[in-house]
Amino acid sequence: MIRGMRLVALFAVLTVASVATAQAVNAAKAHSSSSSAPAVASSSSVLSSGPFDVNAAVEAYLAKMPPARRAASNAYFEGSYWLILWDFLSTVFVMWLLLRFRWSASMRNLAERLTRFRPLQTALYWIQFIVIVSVLTFPMTVYEGYFREHKYDLLNQTFGPWMRDQAVGLAVGVVLGTILVVPLFGLVRRLGKNWWVWGAVLSVLFFAFVSLIAPVYISPLFNKYKTLEDARIKDPILSMARANGIPATNVYEFDASQQSNRVSANVSGFANTLRISLNDNLLKRCTLPEIETTMGHEMGHYVLNHEYKGLVIMGVVIVIAFAFLNWGINLALERWGESWGIRGITDVAVLPLAVIVFSIFFLLMTPVSNSITRTMEFEADMYGLNAARQPDGEANVDMLLGEYRKLDPSPLEEFVFFDHPSGRTRITAAMRWKAEHPETASSEEMARSLFDSK
Ligand SMILES: [Zn+2]
Repeated sequence: MIRGMRLVALFAVLTVASVATAQAVNAAKAHSSSSSAPAVASSSSVLSSGPFDVNAAVEAYLAKMPPARRAASNAYFEGSYWLILWDFLSTVFVMWLLLRFRWSASMRNLAERLTRFRPLQTALYWIQFIVIVSVLTFPMTVYEGYFREHKYDLLNQTFGPWMRDQAVGLAVGVVLGTILVVPLFGLVRRLGKNWWVWGAVLSVLFFAFVSLIAPVYISPLFNKYKTLEDARIKDPILSMARANGIPATNVYEFDASQQSNRVSANVSGFANTLRISLNDNLLKRCTLPEIETTMGHEMGHYVLNHEYKGLVIMGVVIVIAFAFLNWGINLALERWGESWGIRGITDVAVLPLAVIVFSIFFLLMTPVSNSITRTMEFEADMYGLNAARQPDGEANVDMLLGEYRKLDPSPLEEFVFFDHPSGRTRITAAMRWKAEHPETASSEEMARSLFDSK
C-alpha cells in the first residue's frame, strides 16, 4: 500500500482518526488492476521486428486503456490534487471554529468537571474532540469517500456498509487517539520546553505499535482475512518466498471486493505479525504472472526492510514536525491564547491549534513524503522484476493500477503528487528490464486485453 509509510498518519489520527485506519495503512502499499475485454495493443510487431524497442513497448501497453477510460482516470486523480487543498482548508476552518468560539475550552471544562484525574481529563477531551470533528467534517468525508468514489465507479459499497466502516473507523480513532494523546500531554506537562523532542520519539513508538497490531487487530475489523488455499497460486508464491529468504508459511487473502474492484496486495505488520496479504480482486482479475510480479514487489518491501527504514525516515520528519509544532503553537498562543480560553501549551484545549500547525507542515511536506514512499515503491518494483521475472505481467498490473492513478503525468506532477511511481515510469522500468532479459517475454501477457471498452 502506498500510502504505506504514512507520514500523514499522525496528522490523520490527530484530525479525523476515523480515516487513519488500517484501510489507509493498507492502501498505502497497494497494487491494483482490472477485468478483461476487447484487445487493443498490437504488441506482436514489437516483439518480432529487430532489436527490442523499449519506448514502443511502453506505448503499446499504455494504449491498452481506451481513451475514455484514460480520461476518467486522469480526472479522478487530478481531482485528488485539489482535494489536498480542500481538505487542508476545511480542516483549518473546523479547527478555527473550535478555537474562536471557545468550543475547545468548553470541552476541556466539561472534562475537568467530570474528573480530577489528569490523564482521564485528556481522554475525555479527546473523545469529545474526535466526535465533534468527525461530525463537522462529515460533508467532506462523505463527498470524498462515498459520492466521488461512486461517480468514478471505484466503490462497490452501498451507503449502509460504508457508514458502518466509518463508524468502526471512528471507534478505532477514539481508542488509538487516546493511546497517543494521553501520554503526549503527560510529557508536555512534565518536560516543559523540551517536550517536543520526546513527543516525537513517543509518536514514532506509537506508529511502530500501530503497525504491529494493525494486521491482527485493525484490518480484520474492515475485511475478512483467511489463508489462501488455492495451490496453483499459493505454491508458486511460497516458492518465491523461500527463494527470497522470507520465512512465510501462509499467504492471506481478504475480501477487498466488498469495498471496491481495486487490485491490491500488501505487506503489513512487524516482527511476529508481519504478513503478506492479497486482495480477492487481484486473485479474480489477474493472471498468475501478474500475481507473481505483485507478490515479488511486496516481498521487495519485506527484504529491503522498508517498514523499518520508513520508521527511521519518518522519525526524522516527525522530529522536524514537532519542532515546527512547538514553535507554531507558542507563536499563536502569545497572540490569541487568551481570547481562545487556552491556558498554555500544557492545556489539552490547545489540540485544534496543534492540528492547524501540523496541517500546514504536512501540506508543505507533501512532495517530500510522497517522494520518500515513491522511491521505496520503485525499489520494490525493481526487486519484484528480478524475483518474479514477469516484465509483461508487471506492465499489465501497472495498467490496471491506472484505473485510479494517472498513467502518464508530467515529471513535476509525479514528483509532487505521486506516492507510487506512475504507470509510465513503472512500465518503462519493466520494459527496460525485459530488453535485457528477452527470454522472459510473454506473448499471452502482451496480447491480454485488460479493459472493457465502456
Ligand atoms: Zn508497494
